[in-house]
Amino acid sequence: MRHISRIGLYAFRRFAQLTFCTLVVLSANAQPLTGQHYELELRPDFKAGVLHGRARIRLQAEPGSGDVLVLRSPKLHIHRASLDGEPRPLEQARGGWRIPLTNAQTKASSLMLELDYHAEAAAGLVFGEDYVYTAFFTCHWMPCAGPDLSRATIAIRLELPAGYRSVASGQLATEGTPGRHEWQQTQPYPLYTLGFTAGHFNEVVDSEKAPRLRFLGIDQADTALRAKFKESARVLSFFEDKAGLPLPHPTYTQVLVPGGVAQEASSFSLIGTRMLDPILDDPKEDWVIAHEMAHQWWGNLITCATWSDFWLNEGLTVFMTAAWKQHRWGEDAYQREMVLAQQRWQSAKEADFDKPLSWPGNYPSLKSKRAIHYSKGALFFDTLRGELGEQAFWDGLRRYTRNNAGRSVRAADLQVAMEASAGRSLQTLFDAWVY
Ligand SMILES: [Zn+2]
Repeated sequence: MRHISRIGLYAFRRFAQLTFCTLVVLSANAQPLTGQHYELELRPDFKAGVLHGRARIRLQAEPGSGDVLVLRSPKLHIHRASLDGEPRPLEQARGGWRIPLTNAQTKASSLMLELDYHAEAAAGLVFGEDYVYTAFFTCHWMPCAGPDLSRATIAIRLELPAGYRSVASGQLATEGTPGRHEWQQTQPYPLYTLGFTAGHFNEVVDSEKAPRLRFLGIDQADTALRAKFKESARVLSFFEDKAGLPLPHPTYTQVLVPGGVAQEASSFSLIGTRMLDPILDDPKEDWVIAHEMAHQWWGNLITCATWSDFWLNEGLTVFMTAAWKQHRWGEDAYQREMVLAQQRWQSAKEADFDKPLSWPGNYPSLKSKRAIHYSKGALFFDTLRGELGEQAFWDGLRRYTRNNAGRSVRAADLQVAMEASAGRSLQTLFDAWVY
């Protein structure tokens, strides 16, 4: 067994046994937790489209924690639960699973939760004939003892057919016995960025020098993978320069799968052929490589503390994709991205749904939310850049990135960094766009 470096627990206050309190804790804005460690043994059944799992979760009690443990994974089929080796009953409740604690367990400072479960294909758990991947909805394929924005460390052991390849959050820990792939994420990352993919992939490694760039693809020859991901090394050095920090992983894997997915995860990204294949006709069609790679810094390493600040992840990533295009393909390519963002923001205005970037309310649709978080967010970074000038803006972005690496952030963290570089208050600008 590997060393458990960080532990965490999620238990309820006594009153939270009531259903209405459960809903409060399960809401998207519940307080993110830190310090949990997950160990998963996963065996995908590709024919049935089912993932069989065993989880060991190290939980640490918070002061005043209560007598029910709640898992935010209603779609999982959990067959067995134990706490510190003691079998516990399970109740399926709206929004999750509840495990009552014994008296002694309510007083324990830490607990080991063990579960046997299986998950069926769902949003966030996608099966093909010879591949499987997870995307964003972490609680659909593993038991989550906390909100999606909680940071956790994880170790994933995959049992796979011979000849299959894999990637999971973190780095390959051991080759192990044939068919057994062990991955470890030793820095805590948000739950929604944790995941894995496995399949009958072809593999190309672009460079053995760190950081290593690795490409995986279904039905993709080496030459095709190399051609499609040709720009990756250049994108990487551009972002490392602008972030002021190296890529936070020794290896970064881009996985090409059928369909239209475009999803970042810690240490890897999933890219659908529909998103990337246009690059064969027009090399400027590289946005998906840039966008998902940018998330390794902005989104994964530095994450919004609440979903209402999701624009800090996405607005910055859309902007950085445009900045990459400007660097690689020229001013017109940058302006095209800004015009597109203007058009999308305009559609939100026309629908009478223009909101401040950090607006905490509910959007009527994903489209209107994206118009604000992605498009207006990118335009705000472009406006900041115009206001501060090149040197102060990029200095401010590096300051923001370095100061917040590994942290969860709010809009004020960006403001502090930009003001330090500008040498003046930006309150009026932030009031107009953000708050
Ligand atoms: Zn994104």
